Amino acid sequence: MSFKPLPKIIQSLEAQPEWESIRVYRRLLESWEEVVEPVVAQHSRPVSFSRQILWIATANSVWAQTLTFKRYQILQRLNVLVPDTVKDLRFSTLNWVNREQQGERKVSCYGICPRCHCKTPVAELERWSVCALCIAEEWSQTSQ
Ligand SMILES: [Zn+2]
Repeated sequence: MSFKPLPKIIQSLEAQPEWESIRVYRRLLESWEEVVEPVVAQHSRPVSFSRQILWIATANSVWAQTLTFKRYQILQRLNVLVPDTVKDLRFSTLNWVNREQQGERKVSCYGICPRCHCKTPVAELERWSVCALCIAEEWSQTSQ
């Protein structure tokens, strides 16, 4: 009879705040494109989520200002899609990855992650066979 420390496995799965926050972050990332207009989505992107504050990278300071003015409106819509999650939005040009700099490469280089079936940069699939979020999940499980 083989011995499997099942309670220990369950315990370690439940004790993973990172795992849950990765899932929440991914939901917010998807919701962002739904709550803002396409032109806004092109110039802004959620980059991190911590302590109920969603940080959005913007293409430049004009977008950061424009979105700061609109943030309660955006927050309301976001709260419909992802209730009781985000308390405030912060906008910054830090962490913005210039799409022009990445070039056409980025547009044509998406595949589908076999695990979560999300659109994923091919570079991530080549490196890990899954997307960055899935590999992060895997790492957080093995590190426990
Ligand atoms: Zn994935």
